[in-house]
Amino acid sequence: MQIQADTERCVGAGMCALTAPDLFDQSDHDGTVVLLTDGRCGRQTADAARAAVANCPSGALTLTD
Ligand code: SF4
Repeated sequence: MQIQADTERCVGAGMCALTAPDLFDQSDHDGTVVLLTDGRCGRQTADAARAAVANCPSGALTLTD
């Protein structure tokens, strides 16, 4: 699975970093999402990634196979 984050859509709400702190952080500069990995996630992190996508209020995160 591959996570993609659209920093133009991101509103810096931080739900992703709270939901999946191993996958996401926020920019010190403007609070927008920062991917902590290259965007790839395996079985161990897939559930957390799905939850982060579902919890993002701006629709900035997408997950593809
Ligand atoms: S939850 Fe969505 S809007 Fe909030 S920081 Fe993460 S990607 Fe941005």
